[in-house]
Amino acid sequence: MIIIKNNEQLDLMRIAGRITGEAILVGRDHIREGVSTAYIDRVIREYIEKCNCRPTFLGYGGFPGAVCVSINDEVIHGIPSPDRILHEGDIVKIDCGAEYKGYTGDSANTFPVGKVSDAAMKLIEATKESFFRGIAQAKAGGRIGDIGAAVSEYAESKGYGVVRQYVGHGVGKDLHEDPEVPNFGTRGRGPRLYEGMTIAVEPMITMGSYRVRTQSNDWTVVTCDGSLAAHYEHSIVITDGEPELLTKVE
Ligand code: MG
Ligand code: MG
Repeated sequence: MIIIKNNEQLDLMRIAGRITGEAILVGRDHIREGVSTAYIDRVIREYIEKCNCRPTFLGYGGFPGAVCVSINDEVIHGIPSPDRILHEGDIVKIDCGAEYKGYTGDSANTFPVGKVSDAAMKLIEATKESFFRGIAQAKAGGRIGDIGAAVSEYAESKGYGVVRQYVGHGVGKDLHEDPEVPNFGTRGRGPRLYEGMTIAVEPMITMGSYRVRTQSNDWTVVTCDGSLAAHYEHSIVITDGEPELLTKVE
C-alpha cells in the first residue's frame, strides 16, 4: 500500500531528511586513508543521536551497524568493522537514515579516498547524474517506470551496469514502504506518482556487469565480476513540479 503523506507528516520527514543528509556529510568529512569503517559508523551514529534522532539502520532486519559502509566492489550493506581500513584510491559508499518522531530519511553517496582513478571518479559522477536524470521524471501524474527508464538509459549509455536485484522504495514511517522504485523500467508503466508520495531513488551503478551476490556474512552485496560500484540516493517528495529533496543539504 502506498502511503501519501500529509503536511504534518512531511514536516517530520523534512527534519529526519535534513539530519540524514547532514549525517552523510559528517561521514564524508571523516573519510581519509587509515580510518576504519567502524570509525565512520561511530561518528555518524554520534551525530544522529546528538540531533535527537535514532540511526534507522541499527538493528533493522538485524543489521549490526548504524550505517552501511561499502568499499569498491561492495555495492550496499557493508557492515562497519574496525578491521576494514580505508586506503588511498578506494571509493566508499555511505548509506544511512535518521529517524525523527517515527519518520525516517534514507540517503547514500559515494566518496573517493584521496586520489582515485579517473575511471572511478567518472563512475561516481555518472551515478549521481543518473539519479538527477531519474528524478527529473518524478512528478505527479507520471509513473514509477519513467524514473527507472531515465536512470538506466543514462547509465547504460555510458557503458555501465545498472543493478537490478536491489531497488529504491517508498519511505516514511518505515524505511522500506511501497512502491518499489527500480533503476530500470519502461516509460508509462508502473504505479502512478501522486503529490505527497515520498520515495527513495537510489541508482546502484557498476563499472561492469549488473549482477551482484551476497557475501557469506549474509549482508554485504558485491558485484559478481568484482567491478567497482557506486551508489547515490535521496529521499524525495513527489509534487506537481520538481520533487522536493528531503535529504539533500548542500
Ligand atoms: Mg539507503
Ligand atoms: Mg534506500
